[in-house]
Amino acid sequence: MADLTFLRGYNEALVMAVARTLPAFERATIAAATGLTPQAVSKVLARLVDDGLIAPAGVRRPAVGKPAGVYQLVADSRYAIGAHVARRTLRLVLTDLAGAVRDSAVTALPPDFTPGTLLRELAAGVGRLAAGPAGGRLTGVGIGMVGPLDHAHGTVRDAHRLRHWHDVPLRERAEQALGLPVHLDKDVTAGVTAEAWRHGPEFRDAALIMVESGVGAGLWLNGAAHRGAHTNAGEFGHTVVDLSGPPCVCGRRGCLEAVHDRAVAAGDIRGAARVLAVGVVNLVQTLDVAHVVLAGADLLAHAGTYRAEVEQAVRTQVPRADWQRAEVTLSGLGADVIAAGAAMQVLEARYGLPGRVAPPR
Ligand SMILES: [Zn+2]
Repeated sequence: MADLTFLRGYNEALVMAVARTLPAFERATIAAATGLTPQAVSKVLARLVDDGLIAPAGVRRPAVGKPAGVYQLVADSRYAIGAHVARRTLRLVLTDLAGAVRDSAVTALPPDFTPGTLLRELAAGVGRLAAGPAGGRLTGVGIGMVGPLDHAHGTVRDAHRLRHWHDVPLRERAEQALGLPVHLDKDVTAGVTAEAWRHGPEFRDAALIMVESGVGAGLWLNGAAHRGAHTNAGEFGHTVVDLSGPPCVCGRRGCLEAVHDRAVAAGDIRGAARVLAVGVVNLVQTLDVAHVVLAGADLLAHAGTYRAEVEQAVRTQVPRADWQRAEVTLSGLGADVIAAGAAMQVLEARYGLPGRVAPPR
């Protein structure tokens, strides 16, 4: 027998994915975008109105034909908190159901912090953000963290350059500490999710390149986050670009991250940007992504230089760049991109699909 609970959830997710992207919509708009019958859309809309996630917003009276009910997403009906755990800081944001950042906070983390320290800071920060009007409407907490990390099991396998993070079941421990559902993912995967929400359905094959005490890439392939067989895809900084290069924290030599960081340490930001650009061209050649989004505090501090070098490389080093175009942009969410994406992943897991459904043109 078919699992109707899932089917109902799936139809709701389809409708929410469209509702999220439009200022207002009608039953026919949703039916056209999702392929659901108008009757099925009516049922889903009724349930979503009951849950307070969408609300009627008047009636449109066309010159010809019947009046049509207009609906809107109720952005402040639900909230999520996203956490970006970096090697130096914990950044928290509160987002509404539409993914808009409504509040944020940054706390410094001690060098080489332990899981216990992080959980204490996380609980304190989440408590402060939840103290406002969002408190009773929190869906959960998303955490984006440095890897290697096992999203499926909610375990940090070995965070590079953090000694106390070997096989830590962070999702479970955070759920106990916070009393809320927790979604744990790699920082870069959370970040690329935020960009997918921001860009909409034309963002199908993309990479978020992040430089912030390390180099990583979040992958969005065929309209969804790509995590790979062990959910650890994106260790872009640990791909070798120089066989006789400097030793890397991961144990190999000449990793992109090690060569890049050596240039930064020598004060050569343009050289560092060129190293990153070589890696981005490798990625474009391997995956044929159409969007490259540059992010991370260390990159954004020299945004112009990085963007110029990457853009130039993508335009001149990809053999048929006139046809195989890849757009290079800076993250529009700035320093909040990972935390915001982690919050959006919570909303996505509960209420909707990622940007797979195209709104009607
Ligand atoms: Zn490495």
